Amino acid sequence: MDERALIKQAIEARTRAYCPYSGFAVGAALLGESGRVYLGCNVENASYPATNCAERTALFHAVSQGERQFIALALAAGKQGEAPSVVSPCGICLQALSEFDRGNMVLLLAAGPDDYHRITLAQLLPHRFGSAQLK
Ligand SMILES: [Zn+2]
Repeated sequence: MDERALIKQAIEARTRAYCPYSGFAVGAALLGESGRVYLGCNVENASYPATNCAERTALFHAVSQGERQFIALALAAGKQGEAPSVVSPCGICLQALSEFDRGNMVLLLAAGPDDYHRITLAQLLPHRFGSAQLK
């Protein structure tokens, strides 16, 4: 996996963030096991709960295209018009991503292509709720 290239795609996706209310722009690049990358940005709404995060935008697009296994997600987030900073996905996105994680999904939380924090989803959400609890 070329982590720098994935981060650059997240930074590019961030330029398309629709965030007139928070001014917090987020871009995500999700690498599937097929090798395909799915991009997402946050999409806000005047009715705030209708807002969708960049990570879930990328994830839902990927799943809708038939991708179900993922290697990594790069995230570039921060105040619009400023350089990104290292930011963790929100709890809702961690839960959504965990549905498709086999314990090895890598998150690249990027301030830039050469400045990022590498962590697994399992490290950020160690006691997640999953399908096993529904049996
Ligand atoms: Zn989120």
